[in-house]
Amino acid sequence: MALHDTLTGLPNRALFRDRLDQAIAHATHTHSSFAVLACDLDRFKSINDSLGHPAGDVLLRVVAERMQSVLRPYDTVARLGGDEFAIVLAYLDEESTAPSLAERLIAAVGEPIFLDGQAVEVGVSVGITVASENDGDADELFKRADMALYEAKAGGRNTYRTFCPDVGARVATRGQLGLDMKEAIRRGEFRLMYQPVVDAATGKVVSLEALMRWSHPVRGEISPGEFIPLAEENGLIIPLGAWALREACREALSWPEVLRVGVNVSAVQFRSGLEEAVLFALAKTGLPAHRLKLEVTESVLMQDGDAVIACLHRLRALGVIIALDDFGTGYSSLGYLRRFPFDKIKIDRTFIRDITDPDAAAIVRAVVSIGERLGMGIVAEGVETAEQLDLVRREGCTQVQGFLFSRPLSPQDAQAYVLSAQAGSVAASSTPSLSTPKRRRKPPTALPPACPARCLVPAFGGAGLT
Ligand code: C2E
Ligand code: MG
Ligand code: MG
Repeated sequence: MALHDTLTGLPNRALFRDRLDQAIAHATHTHSSFAVLACDLDRFKSINDSLGHPAGDVLLRVVAERMQSVLRPYDTVARLGGDEFAIVLAYLDEESTAPSLAERLIAAVGEPIFLDGQAVEVGVSVGITVASENDGDADELFKRADMALYEAKAGGRNTYRTFCPDVGARVATRGQLGLDMKEAIRRGEFRLMYQPVVDAATGKVVSLEALMRWSHPVRGEISPGEFIPLAEENGLIIPLGAWALREACREALSWPEVLRVGVNVSAVQFRSGLEEAVLFALAKTGLPAHRLKLEVTESVLMQDGDAVIACLHRLRALGVIIALDDFGTGYSSLGYLRRFPFDKIKIDRTFIRDITDPDAAAIVRAVVSIGERLGMGIVAEGVETAEQLDLVRREGCTQVQGFLFSRPLSPQDAQAYVLSAQAGSVAASSTPSLSTPKRRRKPPTALPPACPARCLVPAFGGAGLT
């Protein structure tokens, strides 16, 4: 019992360590190679939270069996704790053995698992390091596998990565970036840019989405795709997110009253004081609640669903608008659309990019009709070309956002944009339409023309500013 995990019967951390030491000794003795794999289940926490711990235990046992079935008799798979597993592949004769075993492992774990009559799917991310004699001690090797695992997770999960010095350097950079972030908040290196969202029928700007930027003193501009996950990991998203809420509300006060501001919020913020941060931002700036739109992704609802939904209802009761962001990626579970009456669904830009493909168009059409049925407006994200605009309007999207209209703008440019677009949209609404959407229930009286890809604002009149 001292050497095995009671739940799965697999070797535990102590025995794993022993096997790894043996593999190192054997490689030194025979001048051969071996590999260490660090594995972490994807989505285990949400399954455990939603189906309960007994179901989570069954799942871990099934995963343990599947992992063992893929490995060779002389390999060791251990459960280190929670949903963390580790593997020693002894005696590697070929370099390709470790990646091909990782592939089989991912495929085996990814097969549906039946829990309480329900099929659930869990993924596994794998970090690999291949070693031979004198490649470092057990701690060093495990650290490398763990860094590669981090890369696999960052690379979209349910995949594997192999350690190389680059991986080490990247992980070190990320670690440094995490440290820099604290200082950056204090030094005010973060700022918000604003991207207009336009009514598909009238061409009027209806809101602007606040998008965060970080100007790093050494590394230059860092995209939110890089620093938001890091801030979520180290918890700095809480002060950063609260700042973004205050800053966006303050900025929106300088716009015409009809315009809302959209602010993205992370799942982590819901666990720690989002409601207070929203109330504080509204109270401090005096922005009416109905002018604030929160954009959440499904990951928000996947955590403690009931508490989050209650929180969303309270925010909505204040008048705050709630949008479901990036729909079509992740789970896209229709169940979530029933659990909370979102005001808007934003269709992820990958569907808009491919909208000339009839299959992508069919998905957009389906989401539009669900939205119509449930009374949720549909926003098409990432509209870049006149053709895409034409198609998303035909499919019945109610609002559009994308580089065709404008890239995210500095606060000054955003102000100028909204003023000129307001003036311009009066003219645009009397411009005859080039294309009439087929599917809108109530066709607008006059549609603005679709514009050539290179023009920005003039899709609906107004002067281009970028
Ligand atoms: P998002 O909320 O879905 O924001 C839309 C992203 O699409 C933005 O990327 C925007 O610049 C980009 N985009 C808009 N139109 C187009 C287009 O026509 N073509 C292309 N290729 N891209 C377009 P950005 O600013 O890099 O932000 C990425 C993501 O980072 C956001 O996705 C959001 O999830 C997250 N994010 C940004 N700011 C914040 C924030 O303040 N808080 C949190 N929690 N997340 C944020
Ligand atoms: Mg968003
Ligand atoms: Mg989005």
